[in-house]
Amino acid sequence: MTSRLNPDYTKSMDIKPKKERFYTFMIVPHDARGRPVSLKIPARWVSAAIYLAIFSFLLVGSSIVYSTLLSRKLVNYAGTISRSRQQQVVINSFSDKTSKVSQAINELVAKDNELRKLLGLKGWESKVKLSTDQISPEAKVNKVSLEFELASAKLAERRQSLEELKQWVSVVRSRFASTPSTWPIYGRIASFFGYRVYPWRGVHTGIDISSHYGAPARATAAGVVSYVGWRRGYGKTVEIDHGYGVKTLYAHNSNYAVRVGQRVNKGQVVSYVGMTGWTTGPHLHYEVRRWDRPINPVAFLDLNILSASRFWR
Ligand SMILES: [Zn+2]
Repeated sequence: MTSRLNPDYTKSMDIKPKKERFYTFMIVPHDARGRPVSLKIPARWVSAAIYLAIFSFLLVGSSIVYSTLLSRKLVNYAGTISRSRQQQVVINSFSDKTSKVSQAINELVAKDNELRKLLGLKGWESKVKLSTDQISPEAKVNKVSLEFELASAKLAERRQSLEELKQWVSVVRSRFASTPSTWPIYGRIASFFGYRVYPWRGVHTGIDISSHYGAPARATAAGVVSYVGWRRGYGKTVEIDHGYGVKTLYAHNSNYAVRVGQRVNKGQVVSYVGMTGWTTGPHLHYEVRRWDRPINPVAFLDLNILSASRFWR
């Protein structure tokens, strides 16, 4: 390795001289005939070559790492696509099921309306129409979510309707309980309601049901005992107030089973058949009164909840 100063160079450039370093590579043949070859290379070239080598190494290394990562990502991506397809299948079947549920709810709504119509209740047409601000953001983009929200709103509405029907049924049940609907005692009707000549000429204000002495007479509807005592012609009498202006009366008794103010249920024993008052033999004189006017009790002997309802208007 040699170095040399070039005086002209330093002089002309007028800067501090720099020593240029060189490397000499020699190729010496083993064969004696060959001539050795020497290669003189500046040191800068050598370091440049080393840097280049390091740079290439890093470049190749990083591309290997990068391509490995990339291929792994591709594998993941393929997996994601396959999963996404499976999810789409699930979503589609879910969508089908939601449509079926929605359809079932619509049928339910129709049946509910029919029932309300039959019962003479006001219609309960669905008022569910979701406005844009009621719809959640995901429902706006997803048909399934939207259908679900509609279904749940409709169900809430039907729940309210059912609650109304339940209340209606309970009112009807209580109304039926206080409507005379049974025989106070089973037996032959010896005398009907209305004008008659025997045994006394005049209007018969009830019906006479033949029975044996001491047989129990039962309340034909729930109510409160409003009178227990003797009445001219009627003898020992029990009267029950059922509300809604309706009363029943049981006469010619031999004895009482209730007292005034007592609550009685339909079918509860109120008195025992006798011969008190104007009577020719043991029977029960039974009256139904509406707003204190006697009406024909025959209409009230065998009623069910439907046939009873025509007396409620
Ligand atoms: Zn009578």
